[in-house]
Amino acid sequence: MTKHYIKEDVTVVWTPELCQHSAICFHGLAEVFDPRRSPWIDMDGAELEKIKAQVRRCPSGALSYEQKEK
Ligand code: SF4
Repeated sequence: MTKHYIKEDVTVVWTPELCQHSAICFHGLAEVFDPRRSPWIDMDGAELEKIKAQVRRCPSGALSYEQKEK
């Protein structure tokens, strides 16, 4: 089931069915993406620009984000 993680005007969307558990997100930005934690995404762990850059590196499309228009 898709989950949403919100910080300011950005919503990170995670679709677990697509996740390949490659841990690219964890190795890239463990302050935010840590599967040992629950919830495993902590939007307070880093600046939004860093979170968005890491989301774009997800190879499977399991992670994406939506940004509200200002
Ligand atoms: S980078 Fe994407 S596919 Fe890999 S573990 Fe993270 S969410 Fe899953």
